[in-house]
Amino acid sequence: MRAPARPKRVELTTSDRAHLWKEVSNARIPWRTSGRVSATDLRRLVQCPLSAWYGATAPFETAAPTLGLAIGEIVHASRADLSRSARARFLRAKSPEDLWSPSIEALNRDLIGQNFDRHVFINAFGTQAAEARLAYTTLLLAMERQRAARGADLLAAESAGANLADQLVPIEVEVPVYDENRDLAGICDEVWRDGENIIPVELKTSPPSKEHQLANRVQAATYGSLFTAASGQKVLQCRVHYLTEGVEDSFEFNRSWERRITHLVSEVRAIRVAPRPPKGRPSPSICGYCSFQAVCPESQAPSLMDSMVSLLPSEAPT
Ligand code: SF4
Repeated sequence: MRAPARPKRVELTTSDRAHLWKEVSNARIPWRTSGRVSATDLRRLVQCPLSAWYGATAPFETAAPTLGLAIGEIVHASRADLSRSARARFLRAKSPEDLWSPSIEALNRDLIGQNFDRHVFINAFGTQAAEARLAYTTLLLAMERQRAARGADLLAAESAGANLADQLVPIEVEVPVYDENRDLAGICDEVWRDGENIIPVELKTSPPSKEHQLANRVQAATYGSLFTAASGQKVLQCRVHYLTEGVEDSFEFNRSWERRITHLVSEVRAIRVAPRPPKGRPSPSICGYCSFQAVCPESQAPSLMDSMVSLLPSEAPT
């Protein structure tokens, strides 16, 4: 069997780096200070301890972009914009026409397009980027159309209002949350309301495979733990939403998750001060979604020009 091809390093231009640093310094949570651990660190630790080490120690600019990582960022940003816009629309909706029309579809397409246009690297991937743009725009629009259809059903059943919107759209998107006692932080993709409780939701463009599932649950459960500690909000359930497959993985959030998270936080801190980097746990699937595949000698990522188009279902999820 032939050894997997080693990925080539992508060189970033000075202006790319300047832009990235600006993004980092604009973040609402100061990142990578002292011993701060993030929800992403815990997810990385479960997937591959070496990636947790890279996350803590590698200079930011050594993480080279891949098409998959760029698409992941764009899809996340687009979904957040679409959710904000959908919530505002649902709150004033009187009829199904207020939820979906050619002009609303054009507005949504524009929101997605702006995220593609804004991304620093996307055009570097040529025709693959153009194919991915088309495929993901179609997918995101189909998801919004489904959301509008569900909204129309609810409108027919009861009058519009905040509770109706809570069944269709998150109450908040990209929510920074920080627990001072553990110096543990994260930015939760979506927060949904469930009566008096909240449900943290982690969005993923990776497939819902066994290899990814536990690590992604750890990341979502970390938000559950953070919201409980930082704001006293009650969390009984967390979710990982696999966007490209339309699959939702809901699981109970309980005390055993709290113990597990505390343990993982100490493991990340131990890795950071260890004299040597830990051994990696490479696999094509995990390395293919790793930010450090371009610099990691153990990487089994298929190619830096990885295409997430192949992961898309032939039809949008129903
Ligand atoms: S490229 Fe693979 S082996 Fe290397 S840090 Fe990332 S996940 Fe681990």
